[in-house]
Amino acid sequence: MLAKYVLLILIILFVLQVVRTVRFLQNRGRVNRPHKENMVVCDHCRVNFPESESVVSNGRVFCSEEHQRASRER
Ligand SMILES: [Zn+2]
Repeated sequence: MLAKYVLLILIILFVLQVVRTVRFLQNRGRVNRPHKENMVVCDHCRVNFPESESVVSNGRVFCSEEHQRASRER
């Protein structure tokens, strides 16, 4: 019965493909895990925002150049 062996091989290939897909998704999840960015507080409006968007002036952190300027005028 050749058809039985062909079917068996197809099942094995299918299982291997599933295992490969699951491993791929697990690895991708590990690599693409969102990087938790350091949050800072604006010295003018006290809003929380990511450090990469901060404007630093004289050791003080601001959310925008606008607030940096506003704080200086006070
Ligand atoms: Zn602000």
